[in-house]
Amino acid sequence: MKRDSLNLPVFQPGSVWLVGAGPGDPGLLTLHAVNALEQADVLVYDALVGEAVLDLARPDCERLYAGKRGGRPSPVQADISQRLVRLAQEGRRVLRLKGGDPFVFGRGGEEALALVSARIPFRIVPGISAGIGGLAYAGIPVTHRDTNSAVTFLTGHGVGGSVPDGIDWAAVAKGSPVIVLYMAIKHIAAIAGALMAEGRAAGEPVAVVSQATLPAERIVETTLGCCAQDIVESGIEPPCIVVIGEVVRLRAGLDWQGAAAGRVLDADPLDLRSHRETG
Ligand code: SAH
Repeated sequence: MKRDSLNLPVFQPGSVWLVGAGPGDPGLLTLHAVNALEQADVLVYDALVGEAVLDLARPDCERLYAGKRGGRPSPVQADISQRLVRLAQEGRRVLRLKGGDPFVFGRGGEEALALVSARIPFRIVPGISAGIGGLAYAGIPVTHRDTNSAVTFLTGHGVGGSVPDGIDWAAVAKGSPVIVLYMAIKHIAAIAGALMAEGRAAGEPVAVVSQATLPAERIVETTLGCCAQDIVESGIEPPCIVVIGEVVRLRAGLDWQGAAAGRVLDADPLDLRSHRETG
């Protein structure tokens, strides 16, 4: 690869780069992320960033963990932000590495604003978000011309740990044919119940994708009416993305990982040909 011609930026001492590491598969890192890993003096990373990605850092790069461990509460967000400021003020090249995209339910904006108020130079490197790239690995496109021209990304986890309030479930149920939920496993019964109460069908397809893009990836296909029970019975574990909507049916045609393992794919998973013939 002709790396020199890419003109990738030089990591200046005393600055912070806020970088998305993607959903897990190291092959989904951007060139900017790899460039950051190769130059950083110190790496501040979250629980969702895996070893294979961390191992791309310089051998002498200091690694600081900023996620949940052993059931202990996660460090207070303000403390993480202040830690980034302090490390930069010490003149280090600080790489803040986050799962997925730093600006998608990742509190990247809060950390960047703390850098702004301390006048620390920074750069944002977007990453592939689990709710898009993770679903693509499962063979589920978030939009498809025959099913939806809108998609809603929602967090199932409010500030205090409960179902987020302030969500207009009637509007979501009516206006968003496809709903992608992050951090939703704990409150899935309440969320599915709210959507059905606002008119979404119990038989609507749902997929739950755990550890998307990683070797331990697991997928449960279910329905809105059964998803809460199926999640418990399957024992599927977080991190999970939940997707609700007709796009889930496309998996029967687009499960490219399954095809590599011998699954026979259906070229007409939405059954459009028979609809066209009879309609
Ligand atoms: N910034 C991240 C999201 C952080 S919130 C992004 O853009 O992807 C954390 C939530 O993201 C998890 O609870 C889960 O819902 C989702 N998530 C992140 N990585 C995942 C993965 N590999 N597989 C499934 N879900 C994932």
